Amino acid sequence: MKTINSKLIEDVVRDMCIDGCINLNDDVVNSFKKNRDNEENEVAKNILNILIDNAQIAKNLNKPLCQDTGMAVFFVKIGQDVHVKGDTITEAINKGVSRGYTDGYLRKSVVSPIDRINTKDNTPAVIHYEMIKGDNIEIEYAAKGFGSENMSKMKMLKPSDGLDGIKEFILQTVKDAGPNPCPPIIVGVGIGGTVDKCAQISKKALFREVGEHNHDEFIKELEEEMLTKVNELGIGPQGLGGKTTALAVNIETFPTHIAGLPVVVNINCHSSRHKKIIL
Ligand code: SF4
Repeated sequence: MKTINSKLIEDVVRDMCIDGCINLNDDVVNSFKKNRDNEENEVAKNILNILIDNAQIAKNLNKPLCQDTGMAVFFVKIGQDVHVKGDTITEAINKGVSRGYTDGYLRKSVVSPIDRINTKDNTPAVIHYEMIKGDNIEIEYAAKGFGSENMSKMKMLKPSDGLDGIKEFILQTVKDAGPNPCPPIIVGVGIGGTVDKCAQISKKALFREVGEHNHDEFIKELEEEMLTKVNELGIGPQGLGGKTTALAVNIETFPTHIAGLPVVVNINCHSSRHKKIIL
């Protein structure tokens, strides 16, 4: 049994929040570059160059790459042979978020949902837990902007709607979103489960590195097909036209009930900020 002090979790979460909002990972920046080289539209090329410069400027100046530093979302895997001493993991993560968003001068964007009173430290975080074997704790963080979150949709399709219905819903959601989610976007799709499980796996899909596919060959091909179709919509970077509407379409599935076919399309913007650490 390994013992981890909750203060360590708090400290690494603090650092992840600051690092995540400032330093865009290479998988996203490299995808901007690859798509810029494939673009024929000059405006689209320019915008992708601006996004590449913006990421570099944020690194150089140690400043957030977007003013919207998002709601903090975590996927945490906990080894069943780990003992956490001190605070609960949830308390430690929230303390880390509070310190990270305060010390890093990151915008505090979290409010109570009805009276809209700001919690002043960007807590609480949204945290998803999974128990695993072993004695590690794996923490993945994303700063989720709401320009893109607001464009996400859920639909309870009928089983008879089938694959065609799923494809149509994904395309229509991206089309309806247009320029609002700050394209080029990443499209996370959850298929199956219940309402809550479907939304959770669509979010998990956004945590992948750009270019990483589902391990199931059929789903991988579906991801590639949908990326081509999404990019054929011509929305382009910042909605000003071009071939780069999305950098990736990531799909996760889960078995569902015989009577249903839930689908969630969760959209992320070009500020696709995610960090991972293993303790
Ligand atoms: S949606 Fe993303 S890029 Fe747009 S303002 Fe929010 S965080 Fe920034």
